[in-house]
Amino acid sequence: MKKPFVTLEQLQEIVKQYPTPFHLYDEKGIRENARALKAAFAWNPGYKEFFAVKATPNPQILKILKEEGCGVDCSSLCELMMSDRCGFQGGEIMFSSNDTPAEEFALAAQLGATINLDDITHIDFLKDTIGYIPKKISCRFNPGGTFQLGESKEGFQVMDNPGEAKYGMTREQIAQAFKRLKEMGAEEFGIHAFLASNTLSNDYYPALAKILFQLAVDLKNETGAHITFINLSGGVGIPYRPEQPANDIAVIGEGVRRAYEEVLVPAGMDDVSICTELGRFMLAPYGHLVTKVLHQKHIYKEYIGVDACASNLMRPAIYGAYHHITVMGKEDAPCDHKYDVTGSLCENSDKFAIDRMLPEINIGDLLVIHDTGAHGHAMGYQYNGRLRSAEVLLCEDGSTRLIRRAETPEDYFATAIWD
Ligand SMILES: *Cc1c(COP(=O)(O)O)cnc(C)c1O
Repeated sequence: MKKPFVTLEQLQEIVKQYPTPFHLYDEKGIRENARALKAAFAWNPGYKEFFAVKATPNPQILKILKEEGCGVDCSSLCELMMSDRCGFQGGEIMFSSNDTPAEEFALAAQLGATINLDDITHIDFLKDTIGYIPKKISCRFNPGGTFQLGESKEGFQVMDNPGEAKYGMTREQIAQAFKRLKEMGAEEFGIHAFLASNTLSNDYYPALAKILFQLAVDLKNETGAHITFINLSGGVGIPYRPEQPANDIAVIGEGVRRAYEEVLVPAGMDDVSICTELGRFMLAPYGHLVTKVLHQKHIYKEYIGVDACASNLMRPAIYGAYHHITVMGKEDAPCDHKYDVTGSLCENSDKFAIDRMLPEINIGDLLVIHDTGAHGHAMGYQYNGRLRSAEVLLCEDGSTRLIRRAETPEDYFATAIWD
């Protein structure tokens, strides 16, 4: 059972102040989870989580994570600017980007961010742009092929296809890159890789760590580079479906520790810091999209029309992603009605759920769409003249705070040229 982090009574009060639809974030959940992550990697003195800003680019969320000791992982100019304005400095900013425009490298360097190069050709591009090679630099690795974990009769627990991914350098290139960077003045090196997304397995990070730790030992021997950090990036997932088991971050941290003891320590590399760039794991479960039922439609199927649409949450429309729905106040009612829950876009993919068994729904009911705290509001758009919703923080003391206002028609028209 997935339970909302608010009750119907709380929500009824909240919607008096903020009209639906809006994203609601749970400060308490965000902080507790960030602390559990930090504790899981406390064995590594240099450990730091660099929150993937793209998942939830909201200054107030970034400030909460900063208070919990997190840095930020940026991949664009605006994300760098937002992080700077939120007070993140130098070593608190990771810049992991690809197909990077020159001005973004320039700002990253100016802020003292740690730059993670996606390609070997970016060495010269960076040098030509900023005039030097930073003393501390990272390279992104792509091992190619497929990446699989934990075969069972249902298939692989984790499976992804790095060979088809546009990111990172080949094994030969990363060795060459380290040699060149060293000749050009780099002194501290990092390795980054992102091999699978939304993994539901306590083995993903440990398996990735083992690959990167071994690579670090080999690259140190081949190139003489002083490798001081290894970035496991994002990819630790969350159970969007109620029957899926959640990852256990303490088990994951312990698995990475074991790989560290096995591979890095015997090679004399016990000064390596671990970095992570989690987005989804940090925020997704701590966001709800709150929406109200506007219409019911009975044609060849039963439709529930709500006041949110794919502009507020694109994941179902673009990848058929499952998001659990709770009909508030009917948590214990039998799920004996089959509905498509839709938004208002003139796009048939604008459905939050298809053939979902839910309790009987009435007009005016409040629905909570779960796990929208990451890659939710952030992916919003304005197609069909629909505007992005507000973001509201449910504070630890139970009060609420508007942390982003809803867009208005003025925002929509701000870029138009009329004559
Ligand atoms: C998207 C992204 C992340 C975060 O991924 P999650 O799946 O949200 O954890 C981390 N690092 C990089 C470089 C990314 O592009």
